[in-house]
Amino acid sequence: MIIGQILKSKPRGVMTASPDDTLHEITLRLASKKIGAIIILEGANVAGIISERDIIRLIAEHGAKALDMPASLGMTRNVISCTRDCTLEEIMDTMTKGRFRHMPVMENGALVGIISIGDVVKYHTAEVELEVTAMRDYLATG
Ligand code: AMP
Repeated sequence: MIIGQILKSKPRGVMTASPDDTLHEITLRLASKKIGAIIILEGANVAGIISERDIIRLIAEHGAKALDMPASLGMTRNVISCTRDCTLEEIMDTMTKGRFRHMPVMENGALVGIISIGDVVKYHTAEVELEVTAMRDYLATG
């Protein structure tokens, strides 16, 4: 399965923030949308990503005043992305090796979607279930 197929079944649009938004503003967006990470855009370019883990780390380091810090100080700048034609297996491998759970999907330099570990698990499970059903049918019919 390729990422483009998964994106088609997800609601359009990606939650983003700007580098000047405070971590408090970002936590409100993460909470209201029930998501774990947000892409930071500078104009149309991806400048970074902030996940709930970054916010927890900053609060552990700086206390509650971390929430007044701008996103630019807490985000990961070297964002690993994929394209619509990447496969589910490639994404699983990249997320596992990189130890992160979110990947922006880019097309011609523009952000077109985001894939989370939840999407990966859901579609991987569906693929495995299909294979098991096909094998059972094969064994039953000979
Ligand atoms: P996560 O597991 O997605 O909550 O993120 C764990 C750490 O990896 C955090 O520091 C994130 O900022 C970072 N991170 C998340 N997604 C990516 C990505 N696609 N590329 C690079 N870093 C990421």
